[in-house]
Amino acid sequence: MTSRQKAKQLHKSRIVVLSAPSGTGKTTLVNELKKRCDDIAVSVSYTTRSPRPGETKGIDYHFIGQDNFKKKIRDGFFAEWAKVYDNYYGTSKDFIEKNIKKSKIVLLTIDTQGGLQIKKQYPEAILIGILPPSLKEQEIRLKKRGETSENIRRRLKESSMERKILIEKYDYRFINRDIESTARKILSIISKIKK
Ligand code: 5GP
Repeated sequence: MTSRQKAKQLHKSRIVVLSAPSGTGKTTLVNELKKRCDDIAVSVSYTTRSPRPGETKGIDYHFIGQDNFKKKIRDGFFAEWAKVYDNYYGTSKDFIEKNIKKSKIVLLTIDTQGGLQIKKQYPEAILIGILPPSLKEQEIRLKKRGETSENIRRRLKESSMERKILIEKYDYRFINRDIESTARKILSIISKIKK
């Protein structure tokens, strides 16, 4: 995309998708963005996975059962949904539409399958990819989170596929060396979106 096309896209966009392979520091980054920008409405996804220690219902995710999730798919409740690591994850269409109407910047932290679905429905959506400084760093973060070695191996493998999509299809990519400077770069993009 040329810089002129990007400027036009920023002018019209209200949806920002943030995709980051597991262990990239995404949760900390989103908290930092929320702190610094009141206009951001962060979507809380629906998932069939079980809560991890420290996660709160309705804040980290809406944790629901598979039958309920599948019913929501049939009812057209989701703007996008995907199966990631054996669990289903999805974004409420209603949340997006309501917050666009309120002139909020809607921030979705979803995987690349979801990011590409959002782009199809909302072509002005801005897709931002966050990459870990290195595979080693990513592995350390996953270990700290208490993931099993089998899970870590799988997530590192899948994130190399995610990385390819981020590089080929996303509008912006940043390496998350430190939260402060990555947050600043994302806020600079958001600040160009017309209020
Ligand atoms: P985790 O289980 O580690 O919180 O998330 C696993 C993956 O699912 C991450 O890549 C995360 O971005 C993605 N994810 C979380 N919510 C959604 C969602 O609503 N839709 C999609 N497509 N992916 C999601």
